[in-house]
Parts: sequence; structure tokens; C-alpha cells
Amino acid sequence: MNGLIFDIQHFSIYDGPGIRTTVFMKGCSLNCEWCHNPESIKSKKEVQTYFFKCIGCGRCFEVCPQGAHKIIDSERFYDREICLSCGKCTSNCYSGALVMTGSEMTLEEVIEEISRDLPFYSDSEGGVTFSGGEPLLQNKFVSKALEICRGKGIHTAVDTAGNIPYNAIEEVIPYTNLFLYDIKTMDSDVHKKFTGAGNGRILDNLSKLSKTGIPIRIRIPVIPGVNASMSDMVSIADFCTVLNNIEAVEPLAYHSLGAGKLESMGIAGDKKVFSVPEKKTMVEIYELFESRGLKVIRKPG
Ligand code: SF4
Ligand code: SF4
Repeated sequence: MNGLIFDIQHFSIYDGPGIRTTVFMKGCSLNCEWCHNPESIKSKKEVQTYFFKCIGCGRCFEVCPQGAHKIIDSERFYDREICLSCGKCTSNCYSGALVMTGSEMTLEEVIEEISRDLPFYSDSEGGVTFSGGEPLLQNKFVSKALEICRGKGIHTAVDTAGNIPYNAIEEVIPYTNLFLYDIKTMDSDVHKKFTGAGNGRILDNLSKLSKTGIPIRIRIPVIPGVNASMSDMVSIADFCTVLNNIEAVEPLAYHSLGAGKLESMGIAGDKKVFSVPEKKTMVEIYELFESRGLKVIRKPG
């Protein structure tokens, strides 16, 4: 059984309790304007370009069966539309100007990598988190991986945006200790405008999940111009307070650190840049959720 993975991050401290290994699955069912992991969106391997590192050796031009690397009007050009993601150029580019994102990994390979961090999990009460992208687009693979991890006594978390059929969530419930579940906005039109999909299925799935007894940590990206007003946050808080098993709420301030990645994926012009919320806005949001009796995870800074 293989999974399409774009990164495995060790010693992660932001994807659940303790020190964790985060497995980032490639492919997403949303396309958020503020996405800082744009390499996660497509469910296929892709070439990332860092042409400022190019030393002009010409190997990529020679090996590409599609002629996807070109010079047009003295400008370096890479044609994503005709690229087959074969990896011939990336494996022949020694300067790091061309990098393949996404690799097929077997279940055994992923478990082996997770198991390397076993000593850190027990010392920190950490574990493994499957994230993305949307990890539950690959629910069969994730479910099996979680089952094996649980068999080894590893704490397991799934970080989902919830825009998937509920049966994909149901499949991982028996092997999941904690869900990290995103709420972006309660306004479905705004949700659709900024992510490409309404929020009906996401909120329905969350309501169902909250009745299963598994702890849920709600994650809220706070983005000025999208959802950072107090009335937006009050709507989310109202919804959270009627759910069961909410372990904590984690408002996450928008940052623009993914800008370089957007460029490497050739989509820099397609995405909006938002402002970063002020610290006092974040404090007001923390206090709002706390005033509703919800535990809040405050990010330092
Ligand atoms: S193989 Fe890499 S370094 Fe060589 S020309 Fe292509 S992009 Fe530049
Ligand atoms: S991945 Fe393959 S098809 Fe795509 S640009 Fe590189 S060599 Fe050409």
C-alpha cells in the first residue's frame, strides 16, 4: 500500500501534544487563498522551481521528454501544463533549481520513519500526526498507518479540514486519539469565496464527529479580511460551545511565510496576500473563547 507524501517533519511541536512526527499527505479538497503549503494542493507529484539557483548546465533541457524547459525571449520558462512529473529533470539538476515535491512511500517506509522518533514520544507525551493537504483523501493508507502506530503505543492525531465524505472520517476514528479540525468561517459564502467550497459538509461532519467521544482540537486560521472580526469569531465560538468533546481551541494567526513556495509552484500571482493580525486582536480572540469556557491554546509571540 502506497501513500503520496510531500514531507515528513520530525520534532514538530505545533501539530498536537508533545514532540511529534508530522506526515504531510499530498492532495487537498480545498484551495485556500492563504495556503502556506501550496505544494500540498494537487494529488500528484510536481516540480518546484528555484531558478535563482540555476547554473545553466542545460541538463534539464536535454533529458526532458516533453520539452517542458524552454527559453522564450531570453527568459527561462518551465511549462507545467505539459510536464509528466517523470522526475528526469529534477534528478539531473544538481544545483537545487528543480526539486520534485511528492513521493510515493510504502506503508512500511512511513512506519519506519515514524518509529525512529519513538524515544521522543514517550519522553514528551507526543506522537504522530497525519496532516496535509487533506490526509483523509488517502483515508485507507492513513487508517492503516494509524492502526499500526496505535499498535506500537504511539499517540495518534489526524489534522483535517473536514471537507471529505464522513465515511473517510469514520474509517480512522478507531485508531485516532485526537482530531485537529479546522473551522475557517461560519459564513458558507465567504468560505466558498476563499477556499473554493462551502462549509456545509465540514460543519456537519464536525457535529457528527463530536458525538463519537474522540477529543477534538479546533484550529482557526485568523485572517484579516476573511474571518478576523469579533463577530466572525463569536459565530465560531457559539458553534464550538454546543459541540461535545472539544479538547481545546487553537486560533492561529495568518503569516505570509509560504510566499516563496507559491513562487516555486508557479502560482504566486494566483493567491492573495493578507495582512498579519495584530497581537491585540489575537489576545481578544483568545479571551473570547476562554470566556465561553473553552480551553485555548495560545501560540507564543
Ligand atoms: S538542470 Fe538545473 S541547473 Fe541545470 S539548467 Fe536545468 S535548472 Fe539549471
Ligand atoms: S518532470 Fe519530466 S516531464 Fe516534467 S519537466 Fe521534468 S523531465 Fe520534463
